[in-house]
Amino acid sequence: MRPARALIDLVALRHNFQIAQQLSADKTLAVVKANAYGHGAIACAQALADLADGFAVACLEEALQLRRAGIKQPILLLEGFFSADELVLIAEYQLWCVVHADWQLDALERAPLTQPLQIWLKMDSGMHRVGFFAHQYRAAYQRLQACANVASIVLISHFSRADELQSAATTEQYQLFQHTTRGMDAAVSVCNSPALVAWPQIRSDWSRPGIILYGSQPVPSSELQLLPVMTLQSKIIAVRELPAGEPVGYGAHFIAPRATRVGIVAMGYADGYPRHAPSGTPVAVAGEVTQLLGRVSMDMLAVDLTDIPQAGVGSTVELWGKAVSIDEVAACAGTISYELLCNVQRVEREYLTN
Ligand SMILES: *Cc1c(COP(=O)(O)O)cnc(C)c1O
Repeated sequence: MRPARALIDLVALRHNFQIAQQLSADKTLAVVKANAYGHGAIACAQALADLADGFAVACLEEALQLRRAGIKQPILLLEGFFSADELVLIAEYQLWCVVHADWQLDALERAPLTQPLQIWLKMDSGMHRVGFFAHQYRAAYQRLQACANVASIVLISHFSRADELQSAATTEQYQLFQHTTRGMDAAVSVCNSPALVAWPQIRSDWSRPGIILYGSQPVPSSELQLLPVMTLQSKIIAVRELPAGEPVGYGAHFIAPRATRVGIVAMGYADGYPRHAPSGTPVAVAGEVTQLLGRVSMDMLAVDLTDIPQAGVGSTVELWGKAVSIDEVAACAGTISYELLCNVQRVEREYLTN
C-alpha cells in the first residue's frame, strides 16, 4: 500500500477545543465545515460531541452528514440555505440557520414548516461578503420577530481582519455591530479564531472557532499552547546519490550545489501537498528537519538526505505535524494553513484516540 497518511490526533483536537472554550466568554460552536478543515467531519464532531455546545458547517449537505452519523448537538448552517426547498429538511433535522439576504427572509416567511427554526441573522459589518447592511438590519430583525416560522434569533457578524493586530477594522466592525443591534433582545455571535486570540475585549454569547481547533496559530504573535492535529506523512520510496550540478525533478528547478543524497517521497500535489512549495521548504525525515528539493510532482516529491545518513528507503517523512508546523509550510508556499488542510485528499486518514 502507498504509505501516504494523514494521522489525525483526536486528543489534540479536544485539547485545542478546550483552549478555545477557555477563550470564549460563553458557548462555543466547533466549526467543522469543509470536512472539518480536511480532518474528517464525522470523526471530529464525534470526538468533540461531549465538549462542544454545537457545530457549524457551510451547508445542509454537511449538516445532514453529521446528523446521519448520529450527531445530536445543534448544527448551524453558516450560509443558511441556497434554495427555499431546503427549509423543510432544515426544520426536520432541527438545524440552526443563518439568514443573510432578503430572498431568504421571503422564503422563510412562505415556507410550510411544521416547527419554527432558530435563525442567525447575519449583519454585514464590513466584510462585504454576505449579510444585511447596518441600515437594513433592524427591519430584517423585525420581520423575523413577526414570522411564525422563527422560534428564536441570534445576531451574527464576521470579522474580515481580526488577524491584523494593527488594523482598526475589527474595532470598527464591532462598534457598528453593537450600535446597530442596540436594544435587540437576542444572543450574539461574532468571534472566529483570530478574534478569540487577538481581541480579548470582544466577546459574545456564541464563539465560532475553526482553525485553532486544528492547531494552527491564527495570529503570528500568538503563544497559545495549541497542538497540531494533523500529521501528513509518508515514506521514502527511493534514494539516489547525485553529483554536484545534476538537476532534480520537473523543469530542473533544483540543481545540486554539492554531491547530494536525494530521497523520493510518496507524496505529491494530488494528495494536497502544495505544488507552490519551493526548494527549501522544511520537511522532517526520520525525525530530522531537512528540506524539499525541486518541484513537487503529482504523486512524488524529493527531499535532501545528504545530512541524514541514517535515513533511507522506508524512512518516515513528515510533511507537516509536530516537527514541521503547517504554518511554516503555508508561509513557504505563499498560502495559509486553512487551504493546505482543506486540500488534503487521496491519503488515508488514521485516527489516534489516545
Ligand atoms: C469559517 C468560519 C468561521 C471559523 O473561522 P476560523 O478563522 O477558522 O476560526 C467562523 N465564522 C464563520 C462565519 C465562518 O465562515
